[in-house]
Amino acid sequence: MDVSLRWYNIAADLPSPLPPMIDPEGLESRIALLTRILPSRLIEEDNTLARYINIPEEVRDAYRGMGRPTPLVRARGLEMRLGTRARIYYKMEASLPGGSHKINTAIPQAYYAKLDGAVEVVTETGAGQWGLAVSMAASRLGLKATVFMTRSSYESKSARRMLMEFLGATVHPSPSKVTSVGRRSYSDDHPGSLGLAISEAVEYTLDSDARRYLPGSALEAVLVHQTVIGQELLSQLPEEPDYMVACVGGGSNLAGFMYPAIGYKLRGEGFQMTRFIAAESSAAPKLTRGEYRYDGFEPGLTLPLAKMYTLGRDYTPPPLHAAGLRYHAAAPSLSLLRKHGVVEAMAFSQDEVLGAARMFSASEGVIPAPESAHAIAAVARIASKAGPGTVIVFNLSGHGLLDTDAYGGSHGDA
Ligand SMILES: *Cc1c(COP(=O)(O)O)cnc(C)c1O
Repeated sequence: MDVSLRWYNIAADLPSPLPPMIDPEGLESRIALLTRILPSRLIEEDNTLARYINIPEEVRDAYRGMGRPTPLVRARGLEMRLGTRARIYYKMEASLPGGSHKINTAIPQAYYAKLDGAVEVVTETGAGQWGLAVSMAASRLGLKATVFMTRSSYESKSARRMLMEFLGATVHPSPSKVTSVGRRSYSDDHPGSLGLAISEAVEYTLDSDARRYLPGSALEAVLVHQTVIGQELLSQLPEEPDYMVACVGGGSNLAGFMYPAIGYKLRGEGFQMTRFIAAESSAAPKLTRGEYRYDGFEPGLTLPLAKMYTLGRDYTPPPLHAAGLRYHAAAPSLSLLRKHGVVEAMAFSQDEVLGAARMFSASEGVIPAPESAHAIAAVARIASKAGPGTVIVFNLSGHGLLDTDAYGGSHGDA
């Protein structure tokens, strides 16, 4: 099996059109601003209604080099441990360089920035997976990387910060003193938020034409790149599952994993009985407790507004083991699918998630990312009620080998 020739774009098949992004009132156009900060090809991909987008050959080469296609694994150890008669499979994104799915979009985005003639790529990061993926993609393509990292993670996830620096990236704790939006919120003990870090990265990008801003999640084009996961999965699945499960920060690994199958369902071509489950953190429960309305991607309103499930753009979740899930909103297409009942959502407490992580580590020999452990917690809950023959497939979005802050301490639940 070779790397997919194309990504899938769910915009072609949504049950109702995606509400367009709009500008916040009384401010300079943010939609126009996007064209100044994003790689131009990313904007094209964000706006197209084409169902499939060809993956550039350079990107397919990079995908091959990093171990794509990734395996689909039968989780027999987990099945035994749960005492379930359900069959459980997971898609192994944890074996990618950098340890998460994020490199799937970092590579094409950095490549597009280079096509624009940029010399520096800029981004924000929570747990550090996105910052690390961007740093890897940038160093591979000979670009400079600057990363604004939420201060709570900058301090607790220093391994990822050091690896970014090893790759030549500059990493600022956010809020920082480098930008005006950072200075307005600055204090030494502010934990930061993904939203605030986005505002900082955008402001910094605007300071120079040679910089491009690379978004890690939530933007439709990012979700499109991640569908390399689900496109592979379509030819790996031994049968149509009863459940597909993934965790949600902004929605990119979920979309990448599920959208190709959801597309079949929306077109009436398959997966009619499959239930699509989003597993979120009860500390950032936008899909289970948020409102569906226009809101900003970040508190500074540097970016346009989009219609999404949101907890409010000023929502600052508590510092969380799964820092990658500390985001106040879910991607517009995922929010729309939730609104239409195509995707269902469940929220999980940190205790339940750490229990699931420990169980998976012990039974499968793979330490999951704390984010991915939300999907495992959902699988455990579903499997406990599942009849014989039920098939559950989930996305293992990353490994937890660098998440020693989450799993450290004698009980692992400190
Ligand atoms: C960033 C991250 C997430 C959450 O982001 P999504 O865009 O919702 O996928 C989940 N798992 C891992 C391992 C991550 O690094």
